[in-house]
Amino acid sequence: MLHDSLRVRQGDGIDLDGFATRSEEAWDGDKASGKARLKDLANRLADLQNVFYADGTRRLLVVLQAMDTGGKDSTIRDVFGRMNPQGVTVASFKKPTPEELAHDYLWRVHAHVPADGQITIFNRSHYEDVLVVRVDGLVPEDKWRRRYAQIVEFEELLAEEGTRILKFFIHISKAEQKERLQARLDESDKHWKFETGDLETRKKWADYMAAYGEALGRTSTERAPWYVIPGDRKWYRKLVIGEIMVGVMEEMDLSFPSPEEGLAGVVID
Ligand code: AMP
Ligand code: MG
Repeated sequence: MLHDSLRVRQGDGIDLDGFATRSEEAWDGDKASGKARLKDLANRLADLQNVFYADGTRRLLVVLQAMDTGGKDSTIRDVFGRMNPQGVTVASFKKPTPEELAHDYLWRVHAHVPADGQITIFNRSHYEDVLVVRVDGLVPEDKWRRRYAQIVEFEELLAEEGTRILKFFIHISKAEQKERLQARLDESDKHWKFETGDLETRKKWADYMAAYGEALGRTSTERAPWYVIPGDRKWYRKLVIGEIMVGVMEEMDLSFPSPEEGLAGVVID
């Protein structure tokens, strides 16, 4: 099954060179039919989320990570965008503020985990604390290295308390990022997305792939698995995440809560 082939096995780390960035393996049709399927999936997710919200007893956390231009934002728009905003929250984690930095790194994250009946999408996450923090040496190695086990424990706590966790790494190639960054420079409606800092990050591509490889391997647990999503084709990346989401939400066996007693036969005056 698609789930299984993209799922990261827990261990010392993975070599991301061995994971496809450009693939259409899971889709027999062409791009147009793939996009149509994506729309159906997004609608199906909206229906599932409606029951999830009504049920009101489960919590679902989706973690999205990617290199710059990887497509986290448009994935949120096109896969999750049909859900009812009342039950869905997006939490974006940027460079920590002084107040956030004055606390442990999970403080700001824990504050945003989903409540009963809620779906929360993390646009970046606590994983930045073993990614950019590692690559840029923002804290000493012995400190960030202990975070793998801390993160596993933190997610285990959330899972034990009733939160379903899914983590997606959208895997793009360095060549694809070049195209997308160039487009941000060349197309006026994309200028706002361009940040010079992204070029510095791009120079450290190999370091980031090593950091991602180790983080994904060490923290892909039974209850909080990582999936590596081929990211170079935009429609395919969204299709795959949509398929996995629908699969997981269907397995939850959701149902509307039972109605109040004695409703049968009630007629409104
Ligand atoms: P963007 O997602 O393009 O808005 O960029 C957000 C930026 O915040 C990225 O460069 C991240 O690496 C950075 N960021 C997020 N979390 C952290 C963190 N814990 N420490 C340092 N930088 C972070
Ligand atoms: Mg950015």
